[in-house]
Amino acid sequence: MTEVPHVPLVALDTLWLQVAGTLCNIECTHCFISCSPHNHAHEMLSLADVEERLAEARELGVREYYFTGGEPFMNRDMLAILEATLRQGPATVLTNGMLLRPDVCRKLRELFDGSEYSLDIRVSLDGFDAQSHDAIRGKGVWDRVMIGLRNLAEAGINPVITVTTAAEGVGSEEGRTRFLEIIRGFGFARPRLKVLSLFRIGAEEKRTRAYESWERLESLADEDAEVLQCSSCRMVTSKGVYVCPILIEEPEARMGDTLAETLRPFPLKYGACHTCWVDGVSCRT
Ligand code: SF4
Ligand code: SF4
Repeated sequence: MTEVPHVPLVALDTLWLQVAGTLCNIECTHCFISCSPHNHAHEMLSLADVEERLAEARELGVREYYFTGGEPFMNRDMLAILEATLRQGPATVLTNGMLLRPDVCRKLRELFDGSEYSLDIRVSLDGFDAQSHDAIRGKGVWDRVMIGLRNLAEAGINPVITVTTAAEGVGSEEGRTRFLEIIRGFGFARPRLKVLSLFRIGAEEKRTRAYESWERLESLADEDAEVLQCSSCRMVTSKGVYVCPILIEEPEARMGDTLAETLRPFPLKYGACHTCWVDGVSCRT
């Protein structure tokens, strides 16, 4: 039997926080953790929970913080959480863009202006128009995201637009150009676009297919380990600390209660690890 390759933790640079748990205001057909308004597999993190993790992270020299869910802005503590985080390091929020009201965007701008660290907002789009986008994200979502992007633009915040390969045509040069034009349409002179691969787990497994048994990593040279984001990150959820932002539904990917307990190698035995390796995926911006 082939031995499963392990990835070392080279340095804990990036801390992810599943700040909205698995709760989301929509239910995308490609969501790799099957988030929904009813999925309580992982619960929201409170400001106190996050502050505790920030203290741990400071001790361990973490350099940057990412907030995800579910939908982070469903968490009522979200703005206070960002305020606390931005006293310590740069922060990025991954959002579906539907809850970016004018008052929220104004506060984000204040936080942005008041911190010596950067604050990035990443907004997901999965199509060039309402029809293609809403086929994946749900009826009426496109219109609400467009309002959210306008509100960000009015507050002078240039978001990163994240597109998954579920959006038809995004892989081509022409597709990228079309997305960049959409972003420029909001008045963002320097559009920022990130294209992400899909993981065949969660809802996406049902939409397309599960991983085949051969889709596994067979080996990993020491010098290649740093390409994988799990060599430099960990993920905090309400259930503990996991290896990365992708495997939070895998019980064995839970590495401990505290960050300090998770500073060890991890076996790359999952289909998702194959995608990370083959596609060179990093969830970081
Ligand atoms: S992909 Fe994002 S927006 Fe869609 S259900 Fe999952 S967490 Fe929510
Ligand atoms: S899914 Fe990707 S990031 Fe997570 S442990 Fe596997 S290779 Fe690392």
